[in-house]
Parts: sequence; structure tokens; C-alpha cells
Amino acid sequence: MPMPADYHMHTPLCRHAEGEPVDYARHALEVGLTEIGFSDHSPMERDDFDNWRMNLSQLDEYVAKVRLAQKTFPQLTILLALEVDFLPGQEDWIRNLATRHPWDYFIGSVHYVSDSWDIDNPAKLSEWKKRDAFEVWQAYFDRLTLAAESRLFEIIGHADLPKKFDIRPQQDCTPLYKKFLDAVATTGCAIELNTAGLRKDCREIYPTRALLDLAFQKSVPITFGSDAHKPEEVGMDFAAAVELARAAGYRQSCRFRQRRREFFGF
Ligand SMILES: [Zn+2]
Ligand SMILES: [Zn+2]
Repeated sequence: MPMPADYHMHTPLCRHAEGEPVDYARHALEVGLTEIGFSDHSPMERDDFDNWRMNLSQLDEYVAKVRLAQKTFPQLTILLALEVDFLPGQEDWIRNLATRHPWDYFIGSVHYVSDSWDIDNPAKLSEWKKRDAFEVWQAYFDRLTLAAESRLFEIIGHADLPKKFDIRPQQDCTPLYKKFLDAVATTGCAIELNTAGLRKDCREIYPTRALLDLAFQKSVPITFGSDAHKPEEVGMDFAAAVELARAAGYRQSCRFRQRRREFFGF
């Protein structure tokens, strides 16, 4: 079976990743991938929103960098996508972004539980100490459920991101997972197995096995992503991700072309 596609990787335009798309593509070929997708952090309508994404004026440059990788490595399928931040109220902006280029897919991710707190930002780790962990997880999953319900995305990114720093609530999070997955199942988007969690304090793929088991029960499709922020991270720990997916019962993952879905065995 071929390796599943790696649908989550970044570029230096987001200001916290290194290596050009051609370098990511070269590494993808070295590790035996046949398909990848660039999904850099989407620009906001206002460039001063935060400092870890491309400016709006750089969107064309982003597309040109991905096109150059496509031209340089015609033997590798390279898709054009974005990891789009979901914040309530941003829906029109996300629809606007969708019209600007012929995207292959959008990953919808929640990083912000409020307009000012991106919970995975190491610079804001102290915010976690001011709050009850379960309340943060609830706020996060409420937004993630809205993201799934919005029908703006093909894939929902790193579904249990709040575990990144290994700050976990005592309470059972199963009801939060279920509500989110019901929305995902209803609207028909996929969730990703994101191996970046293995490189963080939580030392665990996103999402956790319990969430993935529930997803399989609800026939929620999956994709795979390394969330590479440097070329050598492309395809990283995919063997572990495939093993986890198979253990949960999965034998297929999705691929996208121009926001249309197909299934492939792995
Ligand atoms: Zn990033
Ligand atoms: Zn993300």
C-alpha cells in the first residue's frame, strides 16, 4: 500500500517555518510520498491580527511558491491548500479567501478560543495557569464544533490541540468529542491525523485514540498530516499514524482535488 498523502505543511511566509516549498517537496520524494499538500496559515483580513501568518498581500506569492514546487517536481502530486483559522464571525472572510485561488482543500483549525488567546502559542503558556483546563477544552471544542458545522472546510485540523502542552482536564472529555464528531459526521468533513503532537509535550498524535475510535464509529473520514514547519518534518512519523488509524479500524483516507473528495486505501 502506498503511504497516505501528507496534507499539512507550511512555508516561511507564516514567519515561524523554514525551507521553501521546493525543499519540502524534495524531502517528500526522499521519504517515498507520492502526494502532498501545502496548507500554510491563512491570512486574516487585517494583517495586524497576529504575527504568525502571511500578510494578505503575500497570498499570490504563496501560490507562486507552490506552483514552482509543482513545476520542479512533476513526479509528485502537490496540492494547493490553506490551514484556515476558524473564529466565529470570520465566515464571510473565509468564503472570500475561497474565491481567490483554485484551492484543493481548506483545513479548518481552531487555535483561538477568544480573539486574543491562541492556546497553542508557547508565548502565551502562562494563560493556561489562569484558567481551568476543562473550561478551555470546552471553549475550544465549542468552536471546533462550529467550525465543522460551518461547511467551510474539507478537513478539521488537529482536533484535540488543547493537549499540546500536556495540560489535561480531570474531567471526561468524551461528551465534547461526541458533540464535535456528530457535527463532523453531519456535514461530511474529514479529520486529520496530525503527527506534530508527537513532537510536542503531549507526545501523542492528534487526535487521541479515544476520539479516533469514536470518529470511526461515526464513519468520519480521515486525512494525514505532518504539520511540517521545516522540510525534514514532511511525512514524519507516518508509520505511527498509519498504525494508529488501522488500530481504530480505518483502511482508507481521503484525497482532494479542487475541493472534491476521493478515497484511497492505505
Ligand atoms: Zn504553524
Ligand atoms: Zn494548526
